[in-house]
Amino acid sequence: MKNYLSERARKLAPYTAGEQPKDRKYVKLNTNENPYPPSPKAAEVLHSFDAESLKLYPAPDSSALCAAIAAAEGVEPENVFCGNGSDEILALCLPAFFDEGGEGAAFADITYSFYPVFCRFFGVPYTQIPLEEDFTLDLEKLTRASAQGVIVANPNAPTGIGISLPEIENFVRENSGRVVILDEAYMPFFGQSAVPLIRQYKNLLVVKTFSKGYSLAGMRCGYAVGDVSLIDGLCRCKDCFNSYPVDRVCQAVCAAAVSDGAYYAQKNALVISERERLSDALRALGFQVLPSKSNFVFARHGRLAGREVYEGLRARGVLVRWFDKPRIADFVRITVGSPEENAALLYALSELVR
Ligand code: PMP
Repeated sequence: MKNYLSERARKLAPYTAGEQPKDRKYVKLNTNENPYPPSPKAAEVLHSFDAESLKLYPAPDSSALCAAIAAAEGVEPENVFCGNGSDEILALCLPAFFDEGGEGAAFADITYSFYPVFCRFFGVPYTQIPLEEDFTLDLEKLTRASAQGVIVANPNAPTGIGISLPEIENFVRENSGRVVILDEAYMPFFGQSAVPLIRQYKNLLVVKTFSKGYSLAGMRCGYAVGDVSLIDGLCRCKDCFNSYPVDRVCQAVCAAAVSDGAYYAQKNALVISERERLSDALRALGFQVLPSKSNFVFARHGRLAGREVYEGLRARGVLVRWFDKPRIADFVRITVGSPEENAALLYALSELVR
């Protein structure tokens, strides 16, 4: 039969998202969703949404949402760009800031595995800097890499390790000749955002999401904060691809969410304290747990292989993420769930370990 796909489509190696199974009910700790519901103010906006308004297209530039984000982040609305999930924004960064077949992008070897997928999709070469033995990133090595721009996830995924704000500032300064894209998807669980630096450093773009810290993964919304020239680059690319990436419901709900910082500060503090409790309990079961600053932990057992832990938990109704990749195949990534979910995980693990 004739193959109608382009050569490009045939050659793609797409990103594999964490599974969202429908066969049975799992304790789902595999995709780093927040265990707590969205803010009641966001829920209220959703419940009272004017359905008739949906006959009209949304604001193409998400202007009201950008204004709400700007107020929460202490920047100007023109410093904010909104997209259909931060994945979409990270993807747009490639054509916006990197030349096809140019000097390329540099990032860690163990980091968000969507970065190399985006690079290949947009024909941007990339260099991967190996993390150190303890899975920290030596920023000096990234600074020395020859590249048109660099991408850093802080805290990193799937390791969960965070880099302090002073170290990030030094790194952004030392890379002033090129764009620094900071993926702060998990920053709500660390609290050292580099957003205040965007005024001083025109090369810095901070990318954030509503999926984790705002409990709105199902809404699909993310945003970037940076100098107007970087925001303009993203807008130019967006308008060559999808003029209306953020729908009306999403703009309204996310604007309400971002304006309810007090609610999320309280819920995310619970996630953080649960993360510490979970890390200690895993250590007591014989796991090495990397020091996490995010809403998940990355852990390996002294005796059990990563695959055994993943499969053993799955058989007991608990889903975690396992990456069959060099250096990390013995680890599993476990989302910090509610106290009940974490208790179910620990119970299943104690059976497995025995
Ligand atoms: N960055 C990192 C490091 C992530 O783990 C994720 C979630 N998979 C994202 C970005 C994308 O998040 P979203 O598209 O839901 O905003």
